[in-house]
Amino acid sequence: MATTLETLNPFATAQSQIARAVERLGLSSQVYEMLKEPQRVLSVAVPVRMDSGRLQTFQGFRAQHTDVIGPGKGGVRFHPAVNIDEVKALAIWMTFKCAVLGLPYGGAKGGVVCDPSLLSEGEMERLARGYMRAISPMVGPDLDIPAPDVNTSAKIMGYMLDEYRRLHARNAPGVITGKPLVLGGSPGRPGATGRGCAIVVREAASRIGLPLKGAKVAVQGFGNVGSHTAQQLQDLGCRIVGVTDVRGGAYDPLGLDLDALSRHTEAHGTVQGLPGAQEITSAQLFALDVDILVPAALENQITASAALSIRAKIVAEAANGPTTPQAAALLSERGILVIPDILASAGGVTVSYFEWVQNTMNFYWSEAEVNEKLERMMVSAFEEIWTMSSEYATSLREAAYLAGVRRLAGAMAARGWLE
Ligand code: GLU
Repeated sequence: MATTLETLNPFATAQSQIARAVERLGLSSQVYEMLKEPQRVLSVAVPVRMDSGRLQTFQGFRAQHTDVIGPGKGGVRFHPAVNIDEVKALAIWMTFKCAVLGLPYGGAKGGVVCDPSLLSEGEMERLARGYMRAISPMVGPDLDIPAPDVNTSAKIMGYMLDEYRRLHARNAPGVITGKPLVLGGSPGRPGATGRGCAIVVREAASRIGLPLKGAKVAVQGFGNVGSHTAQQLQDLGCRIVGVTDVRGGAYDPLGLDLDALSRHTEAHGTVQGLPGAQEITSAQLFALDVDILVPAALENQITASAALSIRAKIVAEAANGPTTPQAAALLSERGILVIPDILASAGGVTVSYFEWVQNTMNFYWSEAEVNEKLERMMVSAFEEIWTMSSEYATSLREAAYLAGVRRLAGAMAARGWLE
């Protein structure tokens, strides 16, 4: 049975993606040797004074994959399932996102093992500050630039930025992106991943002749990424029929009212129990009769068995690593067009790059300017990957890795790292 053979370790998945691309491009194995492990991984213990007065130590990590193109870039997640292999994989995927979008960064990622639903506001703030103190020797505007990820927000970035300033006694807004606007954040950053995802869905749909007007969409995850992707796709004429999160789901074949859904989520912390909608699980969501499926939650959600049940024409990976390699192969065999994570979820880091650029020049753009630049960069990355996939007669995922590895190998050669 396929499930027993599935690769569920994201680090193993990431390594095999690189190995395949290096081989397909006929490059020296040195390229793989240089990319198979992050250059630096820091494991930290973050003691936090809890509201009860008790001291509790949280484990955290920060991985920097490669600095061959530029400083490390990538988010920090707060989640109970965070572990070192996950962080290493996420750092590698950031390298490829940046390479595919042509951003002047290498990949990095951080995480803290914790359950934010059990932490008070004050505990979250102390954890964010403690984590920044712990990783501060390896971050900086030209070194490694953290950002939000699962369960971290602009507010958390604000605390981390402030802690960095206390430690270094200087204002350095470019050390972190996804900050509050008032601290040098960029307009358009909160919705950027969702906007970027909708842009590439629009491009893919036009290539396969799928009209977006009335197209049915299912979204797994209704956090920062899922909710904005749903909104953006609705603005393009799609009908969002199903949404799930960790607690449950909401389904309405006639289309969900996204405003009501956002209000409900705000009030109850979950999409579950939306009045007038049917309950639905993620397994049922994947199998819905929809045109577009957007996994916008965590890794390994689309397993081989889920892949066999999918009826969508397009799967747009707004999450990092949502599809197991076995499921990816099945989707490709079944002719389902998958827009890979390293392209479909790259809108966030692209606007993070714009934020860092604005911080560097101390001159700020309007939201319209940011969105217009994002539109251009996403469309040109999509076009490059689309063309590459037909040149190499391969999936968009493999094409994206081919484009990424080619760029990284070029930078390694230019630095004299390869024989
Ligand atoms: N956490 C986001 C990602 O996975 C954004 C990273 C960033 O903006 O640096 O792409």
